[in-house]
Parts: sequence; structure tokens; C-alpha cells
Amino acid sequence: MHPMTKVLIIGAGHAGGSVAAFLRQYGHEGPIILAGEEDAPPYQRPPLSKAWLKGEADLEALLLRPLSFYAEQNIDFRPSTIAVSVDVAARTVAFHDGSSETYDILVLATGSTARKLPIPGGDHPDLLELRTLKDAERLKAVLGPGKRLAVVGGGYVGLEAAASARALGAEAIVIERAPRVLARVASQTLSAFFTAQHRAHGVEILTDAEVTAIAHDGVTLADGSVVRADAVLVGVGALASDSLARSAGLRCDDGVVVDDQARTSDPAIFAVGDMTRRPIPVHGGVHHRLESVPNALEQAKQAASAIVGRPGPSPEVPWFWSDQYDFKLQIAGLPFDADRQVVRGDPSASGFAVFHLAGDRIVSVEAVNAPPEFMAGKQLIGKATPVDVEKLSDPAVSMKAVAL
Ligand SMILES: Cc1cc2nc3c(=O)[nH]c(=O)nc-3n(C[C@H](O)[C@H](O)[C@H](O)COP(=O)(O)OP(=O)(O)OC[C@H]3O[C@@H](n4cnc5c(N)ncnc54)[C@H](O)[C@@H]3O)c2cc1C
Repeated sequence: MHPMTKVLIIGAGHAGGSVAAFLRQYGHEGPIILAGEEDAPPYQRPPLSKAWLKGEADLEALLLRPLSFYAEQNIDFRPSTIAVSVDVAARTVAFHDGSSETYDILVLATGSTARKLPIPGGDHPDLLELRTLKDAERLKAVLGPGKRLAVVGGGYVGLEAAASARALGAEAIVIERAPRVLARVASQTLSAFFTAQHRAHGVEILTDAEVTAIAHDGVTLADGSVVRADAVLVGVGALASDSLARSAGLRCDDGVVVDDQARTSDPAIFAVGDMTRRPIPVHGGVHHRLESVPNALEQAKQAASAIVGRPGPSPEVPWFWSDQYDFKLQIAGLPFDADRQVVRGDPSASGFAVFHLAGDRIVSVEAVNAPPEFMAGKQLIGKATPVDVEKLSDPAVSMKAVAL
């Protein structure tokens, strides 16, 4: 790669901001433009449903790097700048204000957007979602003693928001269409644990409950009942923001398809973060869309390495975390091909782990307040080490001793 290669990054979130920083760290001397729709410099989203929402972290603490970093590193950060189209032949991106920018290398990092509910009232302007700092500010403004929050969707973001609402003295009710919360993303054991904890903290949880209409003062369920609330937060998953990539003709399949260097089907275009569908080497290279900070960082390193021409990072085991009340959930690996689960510790108390195995190999671990199980599990997944299932299920046996 020529040292003065001009890199244009679209999307100044966790992945895009990290690509810019890694490029400089890896010695790239050419121009870097980081253009993002939001007005804030790249910031961390996880605290928006946790510490920030509860008032335990301020904006400074959210920023990936201070604003001064971008000028110091000669990174041309352009806030409030929306890319509207890419001309791959001319290597040019057009922006909402009529301006345009050329590139040698384009990095797409446009993240994901909150899925909308296709029901009456699903586009009501008072409805809340939680993706951005602005969304979080709106949500925080309606939480407090005497207020009632209805959360549509029992996924991580919805459950974390409900826990934070309780911490702020508001009532919260979670309405989930599936028979259990976290149905798409966690084991039955974990769903049962978090359901019990939320109920113990005063959150009402309705399952098998489908919201069919939304009004400003609450929601209507399929059985005709009405749940009144001062505010309604919809947390029913996120969709890859891949429309720019699709209109540019890049190969997409619910996310831009990339390789293990974050390369798209166009040799001059990389894509990173939530918007991508990427191979997962530790799971046999299957393509998957991950929505997590560790994924954004790993792909940012892959893209920056490939752009400067240095070896890429070693493949990582996908991982994720969630904080609710005093519980730190850490998940590593994906339960593809799992044929059994092994529980280690007591799921009715805090401090247990659920291991998902394919044969005698761990493919995923869900650990609640159990960092040693998470760390050891992640390593065993990465190395595909066979384990002794008897020993794994016995918390008295150290995790070191479970490997065969
Ligand atoms: C409330 C919440 C809690 C979370 N908690 C956790 C957690 O506990 N652990 C974890 O691992 N992950 C968590 N995540 C997920 C994690 O934050 C994301 O995976 C991560 O932010 C992905 O980074 P990204 O850069 O791909 O996308 P984003 O950080 O979403 O950034 C994409 C950026 O691109 C901008 N953009 C989009 N289109 C355009 C355009 N056309 N032109 C210019 N800019 C554009 C967007 O405005 C946005 O700023 C959470 C997410 C949310 C919303």
C-alpha cells in the first residue's frame, strides 16, 4: 500500500473510530477522513443502557478517545456528515449536504439500526429506542420515581434498560413475544435466572405476550389487554445498516459479506462492525453477524492491518457481556452444533456457568459472576481442547483440570 493512500471511513462509531486509531498506531501516514452521522466523536454504546443511564458515567467516560485525539493524530473527523451514495467506479462518496469526497480505500462502518415494529403505532414519534446517546438522553428524561416504563422485547438492551429504570426508581414491565426472555441469544437456564432476578427487583415480565398496537400511553397485547405506561421502549433487535453497501453493489446477505481481513467484494472497500457478516474461524469459518464491541475492535484491527500491509491479528473467540443489577454475564463462543449443556455451579445462586458442548468440546460458555469459568472456557473453545464432562460439571474441580 502506498504510504500516502487516502482512507475514507464512513461511520464514526466503535468500529470506524477504532480503524482510524489503529491506522495511525500501525504507522499509516496518509490522509484519514472519519465521517459520521452523529455529532459526538466515537463513543461506547454499552453504558447507554447501564452505567450512563443510571447516572454513574458522564459523556467524557463514554468517549473512545478525547476529541483532541483526532486533531493530534491528523485524523480529519467530520461529525454530522451522512454518506448518501458510493460511486465505486469513480471512488467517490457523496454526502447529504451535496459535498463529496474521493478515496483510495473506503471503510464502511455504519453499524446497525433498531428494528421497528410493523404494527399500528410502531412509528409513533414518542416511542423510544436505544442505539445512540440522543436516544439514551430521551429515555433517561422519562425515568424516575412515579414513572412506568414498558419495554417491548426481552433482549439484552431491553433487560438492561429495565434494570437501570429500577435503579432510578421507575417501575418497569418487559413484554416478550417468545416463551422466555433472551430466547434468541441465551440458554433456558440463563433466561430463567435473569427472569427470576428481574422479578426479585420488581420488574414485571410478561412472556408469550405479543404487542399488536402502540399508543402514547401504553401498548395493546394480542389478547386485547392494555399495558399502561408513561414511556414505551422498543428493543426488538437491530438490523445491519448495509443500504449504502447494497446500493454500491457490494455482496450483501443481511450485512455486508466480508472475509477475515474485513475485505468486501470490492478490493478498494473494507467493512467492519455490526454491519458485516463475517467468517468465524473458531467455528469452522461459518459466516455470522456479530453485534459486539470485541467484534468491532477485532475487525477494526483486521482492516487497519490489511490497509497498512502488516499481518492481521490472531482470530478471536467471539465474546460479549451484559450487566444487570450485580450480575456480570460473560458469553464466549456460539452454540452452533452443540448437542448438550453442562451447568457448573448453582443457577439459583449467583456464580455459575452454562457450557455448551459439541461432543467433548466446548463451543460456548455463558458465565454469570464466574470470570474463571469464562476465561478458561474461552481458551478451551479457541484451542478446541477436549474436556472431561464429569469434571467440568463439578465446581470443586479447577477449570485447569477439566482439559483432557
Ligand atoms: C444500548 C446498547 C448496549 C450495548 N451493550 C453491549 C455490551 O454490553 N457488550 C457488547 O459487546 N456490545 C454491546 N452493544 C453493541 C455494541 O455497542 C456494538 O456492537 C458496537 O457499537 C458496534 O460498533 P459499530 O461501529 O459497528 O456500530 P456503531 O457503534 O453503531 O456505529 C455506527 C455509526 O455509523 C453511523 N452511520 C450510519 N450510517 C451512516 C452514514 N450513511 N453516514 C455516516 N455515518 C453513518 C451511525 O450514526 C453510528 O454513529 C450495545 C449496543 C447498544 C446500542
